[in-house]
Amino acid sequence: MKKNMTKKRCSFCGLTEDDVDMMIVGIDACICPDCVERVHEAISDAMLYQKPGVPSKKGKSKAKLPKPEEIKTFLDQYVIGQENAKKYLSVAVYNHYKRIEQNASNVDDVEIEKSNIIMVGETGTGKTLLARTIAKMLNVPFTIVDATVLTEAGYVGEDVESILSRLLQSADYNVQSAEKGIVFIDEIDKIARKGDNPSITRDVSGEGVQQGLLKLLEGSLVNVPPRGGRKHPEQPFIEVNTKDILFICGGAFNDIDKIISRRLNSQSMGYKAVKEKENFDKENILQYLIPSDLKNFGLIPEIIGRLPVSTYLLPLDRTALYRILTEPKNAIVKQYVRLFDMDGIKLEFEGPVLDYIVDKAIEFKLGARGLRSIFETVMVDAMYESPSRKHKEMYITLQYAKDRVEKLTRLFVA
Ligand code: ADP
Repeated sequence: MKKNMTKKRCSFCGLTEDDVDMMIVGIDACICPDCVERVHEAISDAMLYQKPGVPSKKGKSKAKLPKPEEIKTFLDQYVIGQENAKKYLSVAVYNHYKRIEQNASNVDDVEIEKSNIIMVGETGTGKTLLARTIAKMLNVPFTIVDATVLTEAGYVGEDVESILSRLLQSADYNVQSAEKGIVFIDEIDKIARKGDNPSITRDVSGEGVQQGLLKLLEGSLVNVPPRGGRKHPEQPFIEVNTKDILFICGGAFNDIDKIISRRLNSQSMGYKAVKEKENFDKENILQYLIPSDLKNFGLIPEIIGRLPVSTYLLPLDRTALYRILTEPKNAIVKQYVRLFDMDGIKLEFEGPVLDYIVDKAIEFKLGARGLRSIFETVMVDAMYESPSRKHKEMYITLQYAKDRVEKLTRLFVA
């Protein structure tokens, strides 16, 4: 009895040092690891109330949820064009967080379903940028995963649960915060069913992964290895509920335009249909995308059902590429002007230089992704030399740009 009196005891739950793995001792109190965790959760809860979809401390006023038009205006600052995708995303995101608010306040028994999103569009057209920008605006945990690394459990590659490990990491392991985050799954088209191809004996990275993903998309309790992977089998799992996580999927879906065209053509029978057929915008066939096209591409119907919002991104034309160089809030040109400005140098370009960079991006088939690397090629000498010179201005002429890009191209060709 006396012995027990001298034992260290958790000042919060009352357990003694014999009952727990360790005891943290303060000046006048002790705390056990379980209580540390509970305190941590309580503090995180209190901090969470600023995020969308989470009621404030007293459950009265809620953090302001931006309206669809406000979300779109924010996206406009960073993403050029892609009006359809911006509009669909803005509405879906707004509804998603409204749904979380309504479920949290339990207003009535009408349960609003989740609005996960699928974006179809060539690589480098802004799918990731859109998802990232939305997450930035809402200040919620965000992660990007590549569907190609996922495989069916038990095979080489990553289990689908690893997606949530990354989200947890980006939420600093705050489970409640992660449960309201956004996951962008890139290259979702690469896990399409491979069809009846007899050379594929086991479709471990196709349909099996889709089945695994389904569990996450529809909302369920998932045991997540906090550090991901299978390298740390001893790690305890963290339970994450995915019902309020917004999943945005993206993919290039190469050749889906052929599936769409085929459908449009086969639907076209009779006089009215023939008239409609003539009116198809054949350049931008993606705008006619419907869920059955995704099914014909190889996504299983259950997955499509869990991605009720579908939208498309158009290929970027010359004008769009030029605008990407100069217009967004963090446009490439603005970034370089700022970099030089920090050294007290005024950076300017001869008129046609930017057109030239756009032309090269198109010629090399690099799209928007290429703008940055071509720009870097043009600017690297100037950035190397000018900080040590006493120049106050740097004027990039067309000839200067051509010399640098052509020198590099020759190296590649050689
Ligand atoms: P995707 O996910 O469709 O393959 P990304 O969003 O990763 O393409 O785009 C690659 C880069 O190209 C972005 O980081 C951005 O700099 C630029 N970019 C692409 N599309 C746009 C756009 N519509 N507006 C502004 N920048 C864009």
